Amino acid sequence: MELLDVDTVIVGAGIAGASLAWQLAQQADPTRVLLLERESQPGMHSTGRSAAMWMPSYGPPAVRALTRAAGAFYAAPPPGFTDVPLLPPRGVLYVAAPGQEAALDDLERELTPCCAGLLRLDAAATLARAPWLRADQLIGSLWDPESTDIDVHALHQGYLRGFRRTGGQLRCDAELVAAQRDGHRWQLQLADGTRINAAVLVNAAGAWGDVLAARCGAAPVGLVPRRRSAFTFRGPAGADTRAWPLVASVDAEGEGWYVKPDAGQLLGSPANADDTVPQDVRPEELDIALAVHRIETATTLTVGRPTATWAGLRSFVPDGELVIGFDDACPGFFWLVGQGGYGIQSAAGAAALAAALLSGAPLPAGLVDEGVDPAALAVQRLRG
Ligand SMILES: Cc1cc2nc3c(=O)[nH]c(=O)nc-3n(C[C@H](O)[C@H](O)[C@H](O)COP(=O)(O)OP(=O)(O)OC[C@H]3O[C@@H](n4cnc5c(N)ncnc54)[C@H](O)[C@@H]3O)c2cc1C
Repeated sequence: MELLDVDTVIVGAGIAGASLAWQLAQQADPTRVLLLERESQPGMHSTGRSAAMWMPSYGPPAVRALTRAAGAFYAAPPPGFTDVPLLPPRGVLYVAAPGQEAALDDLERELTPCCAGLLRLDAAATLARAPWLRADQLIGSLWDPESTDIDVHALHQGYLRGFRRTGGQLRCDAELVAAQRDGHRWQLQLADGTRINAAVLVNAAGAWGDVLAARCGAAPVGLVPRRRSAFTFRGPAGADTRAWPLVASVDAEGEGWYVKPDAGQLLGSPANADDTVPQDVRPEELDIALAVHRIETATTLTVGRPTATWAGLRSFVPDGELVIGFDDACPGFFWLVGQGGYGIQSAAGAAALAAALLSGAPLPAGLVDEGVDPAALAVQRLRG
């Protein structure tokens, strides 16, 4: 049976694990870092199912700080990382229907301090930006010019390619099934019987974060995976939709809708957040029907038959922030979970923080400048 010996094992090769693997390879011996992925391809779960937005004003405070720090990397990645822009322009229009004046006011108050260039628009100015909204279903909007698309595939592949190029090892079809702490080392076992000896184990298992913790003898953090469904459909005949903004209703999470351009078509979602369990999740028919109804009520678009439907998991701990850092109660166990709906936009910042905490190095200046506070992300905050 194969026996491997490394310093750090990262479990999960979604955007969280891939970005950390790349980051560690910049500052330590990459051949001593092993990235494990249960599936035969990395990115099959949440990372490959996102709406691909970078929205620095979206999420709780530490998420926003990590997202801004990540933005500096995405805007100017190192030479050779990718040959396409990672943050193509987009912009977000938050629209309010009759009766939603208060929700629009609340959102404006929330976004004003953190969203550069935010504009409040009346119905006419909103229609000028998105003429396909229904005038009788619109009282106004907020225009966020700062938010962009993010090329998730290029980012994820850039991290994985860069990691492997320096000698880092990625193993797919490699599920970690058991782990024991033996003195100062982990003894790990994969489903195919491979055994691994490692000093540190990083939990980047996405929705399976608490499942993995249980296999390693660590207490759970209370991670709740929430289903979000999405679909693509054809835009109006003859319309060039490529430069449309993302348009989202101001409704509370789970009750609204959004639409954005996606590879020549449009992507729609009911912005649902339905509690579930870690799994290869599928959309409920009702999710799609609700989204179609909401989109066709608020806009002049006809969805017709979606060209594709899917769902993914957004996994949260109670305060909605990420969980990054060593577990005081489980030596050598490091958390990198709770990415919620922000795991792509925040990945470079989260990876920089995780790498600093793993190596004991000072926080990088980019994180300090954005006010990132490791205590606000530490697992200990969740343990009372
Ligand atoms: C519809 C939708 C829209 C979204 N839109 C956005 C957006 O616009 N912007 C944004 O920033 N975020 C968005 N998100 C959220 C984002 O997709 C997630 O936060 C992010 O992908 C989480 O990445 P991850 O690496 O933690 O998890 P994952 O991508 O799920 O990766 C975890 C990996 O761990 C592996 N794994 C689990 N257990 C084991 C084990 N025991 N052994 C080996 N491997 C294991 C899994 O197979 C999986 O591949 C969206 C999510 C959804 C569903």
